[in-house]
Amino acid sequence: MSKSKDIAELFNQYVMNTYAPTATLTSGHDCKVRDPDGMTYLDFTAGIAVLNVGHCHPKVVEAIQGQAATLCHCSNLFYNANQALLAQKLSKLSLNGKCFFANSGAEANEAMIKLARLWGSGTGKFEIITMRNSFHGRTLATAAATGQAKIQEGFDPLPVGFTHAEFNNLESVKAAVNERTVAIMVEAVQGEGGITPAEPDFMVGIRKLCDAKGLLMLCDEVQCGMGRTGKWFGWQHFPIKPDAFTLAKALGGGYPIGALVATNDLSDTFTPGKHASTFGGNPLACAAALAVIEAIEEEAMIRSAEESGRLFMDGLNAFVDKYDQVLTVRGLGLMIGMVVEGSAREVVDACREMGLLCCAAGEHVVRFVPPLNVKESDLEEAMEMIGDALDQLFGDE
Ligand SMILES: *Cc1c(COP(=O)(O)O)cnc(C)c1O
Repeated sequence: MSKSKDIAELFNQYVMNTYAPTATLTSGHDCKVRDPDGMTYLDFTAGIAVLNVGHCHPKVVEAIQGQAATLCHCSNLFYNANQALLAQKLSKLSLNGKCFFANSGAEANEAMIKLARLWGSGTGKFEIITMRNSFHGRTLATAAATGQAKIQEGFDPLPVGFTHAEFNNLESVKAAVNERTVAIMVEAVQGEGGITPAEPDFMVGIRKLCDAKGLLMLCDEVQCGMGRTGKWFGWQHFPIKPDAFTLAKALGGGYPIGALVATNDLSDTFTPGKHASTFGGNPLACAAALAVIEAIEEEAMIRSAEESGRLFMDGLNAFVDKYDQVLTVRGLGLMIGMVVEGSAREVVDACREMGLLCCAAGEHVVRFVPPLNVKESDLEEAMEMIGDALDQLFGDE
């Protein structure tokens, strides 16, 4: 019996059945990962847009090792320099305001939702408009915010106070505004919903609508943030600033951390006792995140994301011409979706057989989110494996 099979068996016996994993991974370096039986894969899932700086980036490894041996955790009863430095860095890159730290995307979004509700509480406003096909997390409130029935089914009653509008349809958002509305929440590129970028008019329109009606514009940057799209944050592709946005996935380079970033005015809505997290912003998580940001800056990975994204999309577009079943390719930077007629999972499975890890985003979209510093040779190798997989599935029937 292979080692992978042993691990899978143990896992399936003792871990709750929520994921349906496929391969078993034991180590990673840059864009490559290994299984316990010696198989090597090119990893274009990057931990689902988490490993933007690649697996085991030396700066991140060193930061985690060093901090782990110094002070892992100290609670928010006490100051810690790493949290202050990370908040400064994120604020300077974005809104010049303040941050609150959490441990995951859902938890960061919960913080953003609570901040918006607290901000509106004096005026009786609490409702947040989110988009259909959005994804904001799996806690009860963030599942309610998520505009997908499959995330919500079976979990009633969900928290009230969320209403859904059509993504990239400003009229639909306008129609959803009422006297209870406090905020509009949107992803600059919908991730789980199928790698769909927002249109400039839509984002600018939401900003104007928020200004006109006195609402908050909130961006969920959990997947599209941290350089993924060729800018630090997805909303920076548009001539707007949100009032607040959230980060998680790539922020800690694989170490769990989430952040809420807001303007100064909005940040000051929170006062001591209004929100908290035991682990949020602990010195270890913040050390990892500081190392990630330094690596992205020093190695100009945001520019690489843009350039590699263009190269990769051009390559994928050739498959649209070649196969009727490949419908279109869309995305921004290195957040790329290939839309297929049938099941995306079938393409994902065929790619894995060839040695390339990618994942689905919804029924029909094959998602590619490799590390931002992916080498051109790795892009070419991936392209060949995708070509072979598509040929196997769709070639010369
Ligand atoms: C992954 C994701 C989340 C949830 O993050 P978790 O860390 O899994 O809680 C929220 N929003 C978006 C856009 C995501 O992609």
